[in-house]
Amino acid sequence: MSETSECLFCRILAGEVPADVVAETDHSLAFRDIGPQAPTHVLVIPRRHVPDIGTLAAEAPEELADAVALAARVADDEGLEGFRLVANTGAAAQQTVFHCHLHVLGGRELTWPPG
Ligand code: AMP
Ligand code: ZN
Repeated sequence: MSETSECLFCRILAGEVPADVVAETDHSLAFRDIGPQAPTHVLVIPRRHVPDIGTLAAEAPEELADAVALAARVADDEGLEGFRLVANTGAAAQQTVFHCHLHVLGGRELTWPPG
C-alpha cells in the first residue's frame, strides 16, 4: 500500500470515498466536514499529499496560496461575515488526518481563545 492509497483525503480526491464537494481548483478541493463544528465547516485540501501546512508552504507555496484563496471564496459563497481558518498541525494540536487541510469555520459567533 502506498502512502496515498491509505490516506483518507487522497481517497476523497480519487473519488473512492464520497464527499460533499462545494468548490475546487486545479490544485485544491473544498468539501463539507463530516462532523461540523459550526454552521459552515468546510475543509480545503491541496491535491498534493503533504502531511501539514508547513510542508505545503515549503514544497509548493503557490498551492498553499491557492488553498487559502479557495477558502476565502467558500466563505464568500457561504455569505459569512467573518470566518476562521484553522490548520491543526501535529497530534498534540488534535490533527487526526495527516493530509494538509484548512478548516473554514463560520456562521456563528466564534470565541477566542480557542481550546
Ligand atoms: P483534523 O482533526 O484537524 O485532522 O481534522 C480532520 C477533520 O476531518 C475532522 O474535522 C473530521 O470531522 C473530518 N473528517 C473525517 N473524515 C471525513 C470524511 N469522510 N469526510 C469529511 N470530513 C471528514
Ligand atoms: Zn493524502
